[in-house]
Amino acid sequence: MARYTGPVCRLCRRHGEKLFLKGERCFTPKCSFDRRPNPPGPRPARRRKVSDRGLQLREKQRARVAYGVLEKQFRRYYHEAIRRPGVSGENLVRLLENRLDNVVYRLGLADSRNQARQIIRHGIVAVNGRKLDIPSAQVSEGDQVSFTPRGLRSEYFKIVQDSIKSKHQPSWLALDIANMTGRVVAPPSVQQGESHLFNENVIIEYYSR
Ligand code: SF4
Repeated sequence: MARYTGPVCRLCRRHGEKLFLKGERCFTPKCSFDRRPNPPGPRPARRRKVSDRGLQLREKQRARVAYGVLEKQFRRYYHEAIRRPGVSGENLVRLLENRLDNVVYRLGLADSRNQARQIIRHGIVAVNGRKLDIPSAQVSEGDQVSFTPRGLRSEYFKIVQDSIKSKHQPSWLALDIANMTGRVVAPPSVQQGESHLFNENVIIEYYSR
């Protein structure tokens, strides 16, 4: 599975937004973006006007980086979003939100999508009682997300058990803290996604040109 492995704080500075890619650290004074919000690299000699196409590209890149998806897969989501009935922009957000790594992160079982991807790849996450180690797998309404028996015995599970009470889940997910299982109870809410970071309709426009 291809993924970005470079420095992640640089991405926030490049895109001019806090993308919360590092979990707890993003909420501390150690956050690189809070300390140095300017883009990485040498300061440009003069500021160039950004074209409309350039602005659309920025929206798309911010969404792609926030969800940790590479270009090829992101384009696939676009094609799937326009194929489905309904508003394409909303379909795109739902496809991104329904990724297993995002659901694990939103439930509070991981501090960031990167960490969610890592624990999924380690084979300690189960969907409907069966191990699923594909971070990009789509989770549907009614699916249950939990830990595998190996996950329940892991040190990671103990840490999550202690920290999860302070986390909040979006309304389309339900968490049973006693059993440490989550359930998708509705289609993902577009407003509760990352809509403050990007406009999904602009992304659809970007690809449709
Ligand atoms: Fe971005 Fe988090 Fe790094 Fe801050 S700490 S720059 S929010 S990834």
